[in-house]
Amino acid sequence: MNPTALAIHGGCGVMARLDLAEDEWIAARADLGRSLEAGWAVLTAGGSALDAVEAAVVVMEDSPHFNAGHGAALNTDGEHELDAAIMNGADLAAGSVTLARRIRNPIRAARAVMEAQEAVMLGGPAADAFAAGAGLDIVEPSYFTTERRVAALSAMKRHQAAGTAAKASEAEKHGTVGAVALDSAGTLAAATSTGGYTNKPAGRIGDSPIIGAGTYARNGVCAVSGTGKGEYFIRHAVAHEIASRMAYLGESLEDAASKVIHQDLKPHDIGAGLVAVGADGAITAPYNTDGMFRGWVLPGGRMFVASHAEVFDLATLPRPR
Ligand code: ASP
Repeated sequence: MNPTALAIHGGCGVMARLDLAEDEWIAARADLGRSLEAGWAVLTAGGSALDAVEAAVVVMEDSPHFNAGHGAALNTDGEHELDAAIMNGADLAAGSVTLARRIRNPIRAARAVMEAQEAVMLGGPAADAFAAGAGLDIVEPSYFTTERRVAALSAMKRHQAAGTAAKASEAEKHGTVGAVALDSAGTLAAATSTGGYTNKPAGRIGDSPIIGAGTYARNGVCAVSGTGKGEYFIRHAVAHEIASRMAYLGESLEDAASKVIHQDLKPHDIGAGLVAVGADGAITAPYNTDGMFRGWVLPGGRMFVASHAEVFDLATLPRPR
């Protein structure tokens, strides 16, 4: 049997210990674990990488601890505009939604866009209407709002008024969720979903739904899902750049991903991270911030989650009370 692999992220940033209460850290790690379990269950049952990344991302979209779906960031108008994309490395089929306001699980809508084979990207009210027509769960925009994101928006507005926006904590600013997988048929897939960043301009579209920027998969090469200041991921076509370095220069997954995060993006002084899986099942998760919510599964099925340097074996992780 071919190797299978799965890695996820829940956003990168400074993530100061004090940003979250201890029980919130525990709950966030537990949700990373549930995301891994959902994706891995698909792969071990012989399912597709596409189904695995979608299942893993849905868990994080439903969790209030990550900036996607329920718990997404608010824009400058105090509204949610959600972005998501999914890509199948087998045939380069891809789908994405942007500026969605009412789709409970934007990643499911991205998948439906892909399956419909008409458009790669749908945006705004048309994306919401398409999702409703596809039979997906539609919710009131207030479903996405959590107290933490409301407080984060007020804090960012205060920072903006005081000219100290750069000093705002990462927890106040952004995050994203994503998953990459390799299935037993050798197919790679990537999925990414985000609320963007707190206090973003209305109508702003990040890198997550842009194929080749925040999300990319190509069989025989790699699958990538990114997190960080999306404008720079778009400008560097980060996810595609990693695939290109591997394909054209013969670089390893780890080298290619590390060069893009630690060298190409360095002059911009932004927080950036990603998870990527190679055609051989190799996994890498570089980031240039203090932490990145992340998780991965070893070939035998052992699962690990982490937010900072310390790595937790899911089997011994305390579960929330
Ligand atoms: N990449 C996301 C965006 O720019 C935000 C993030 O990952 O922090 O929309």
